[in-house]
Amino acid sequence: MNQRNRDRTCNNLLQWFQKRMLSVCVTTTMLLAVASVQAPSAVGAEQPQKAAASSMTRQPVGLTEQQHKSASQDAEQSKAFKRIAIVIDDFGNGMTGTEEMLKLPFPFTIAVMPFMPTTKSDAENAHKLGHDVIVHMPMEPNKGKKEWLGPGAITTDLSDAEIRKRVEAAIDNVPFAVGMNNHMGSKATSDERVMRVVLTVCKERGLFFLDSRTSYKTVVPKIAAEIGIPLLNNHVFLDDVYSTSHIAKQIGEVYKQLEQTEHCVAIGHVGPPGKKTAAVLLQSTPSLRENAIIVKLSDLIRGPSDEQILP
Ligand SMILES: [Zn+2]
Repeated sequence: MNQRNRDRTCNNLLQWFQKRMLSVCVTTTMLLAVASVQAPSAVGAEQPQKAAASSMTRQPVGLTEQQHKSASQDAEQSKAFKRIAIVIDDFGNGMTGTEEMLKLPFPFTIAVMPFMPTTKSDAENAHKLGHDVIVHMPMEPNKGKKEWLGPGAITTDLSDAEIRKRVEAAIDNVPFAVGMNNHMGSKATSDERVMRVVLTVCKERGLFFLDSRTSYKTVVPKIAAEIGIPLLNNHVFLDDVYSTSHIAKQIGEVYKQLEQTEHCVAIGHVGPPGKKTAAVLLQSTPSLRENAIIVKLSDLIRGPSDEQILP
């Protein structure tokens, strides 16, 4: 996916946000719906289900039964160290799919925009259910209007002091936040001065940063290493195209990524694709569990197998 598409995902969402902002009744209804969500039993990192994949049960040619057993155990062992972290962006405005996402039967991470009508209730509901909460910080894209970004956004024309003030206010506004990722931000995440201030504040407040990677020119890895803040990177956008078939295809990309790395971070959205993304994730849950342990971002930060944590 190119950079334009990545920003477009959030552009469309923000235009949609603005329409939604006009509809107080709808927002209130969603707020009530979220408040009535039943707690799923899953909290924290999950254990992978017993292997059902045929590749696990097929006897390798030329191996004794004992060797086969040990090969099978090795396969189980290596699978046990693979981790999938699902992150759902754009909470905070009573967006479509909020209720469905919060009912998913595995632990995940919700990224909540600050200063929105359901910022506090979404964060509190997710925290009660055992999910991670992170600040979804609106940041300037290369294309698109600044007013689409939402309140408290970080733009490259701001002074260091103003950026610091906005990042601190955003963290204070999202209860239970343990990390931060960027909403849009292809321009801001390419700016060393801006990211140095953002990441310094995150470090001071004990937050990790997830680079949504909306730009190939991101300077986040460089500045995070310089400052010494835990960093994670997005690998797969699940719903940059709003169709069930595309989202299902992107789940396949998650498995491909796991062949390359010990963990995969995948980002989906509430909003226009929300219900479809939640439905695909629900349907894919058994398969996700067969392929890896489903974890929250904070589990990856703590985990032994996170090769991408800097420094
Ligand atoms: Zn976003």
